[in-house]
Amino acid sequence: MSKKLPRCDSCGRLFRLDRYNKSRQKNCTYPDCVRARKQLRQREWHARRRASDIEFRISENARCAEANRHRRAAAKARAETMKRAEAVAEETQSWLAMQSDVLTGLVAQLADTVDPLRLEEVKRAYADRGRRLSAGRPLSEPAPAQPVFLDVTRHPLQAESGVLLDTRSPPSRQ
Ligand SMILES: [Zn+2]
Repeated sequence: MSKKLPRCDSCGRLFRLDRYNKSRQKNCTYPDCVRARKQLRQREWHARRRASDIEFRISENARCAEANRHRRAAAKARAETMKRAEAVAEETQSWLAMQSDVLTGLVAQLADTVDPLRLEEVKRAYADRGRRLSAGRPLSEPAPAQPVFLDVTRHPLQAESGVLLDTRSPPSRQ
């Protein structure tokens, strides 16, 4: 026959009694419950001693204050590191965005176009050219997407590119 298992006074789970401690055992031996009971005992001991021993209270207050200072300083340092990293990332982002804008403007002027599809096509051709140069491959090797415009010599400053031309004649020297 099976005997009914007792319930732990602390966590309420059923547990098996220790055979040498049957009459006194009120608690289970699950590690989390044992740990929680130990913590509670220590907290109670600490509170009692704080209440009865003024020197202990003073030294404990100082120890806690120091630990709190340390914890706050560490949290502040972490937050500052995070903030610096975010600032750098933001700066990098805006720098990259500007490089992209510069490139778009430059390609628009070189190809003398403001058509977005055409711009994209030309950018791809330049990217391909750049990749070939970086890889040390000769440019004479036929490129798969070599656009016709690259053979056409254009004046880089044409109105269609959207770049305003300075049409004033240079100041005459006397
Ligand atoms: Zn328990």
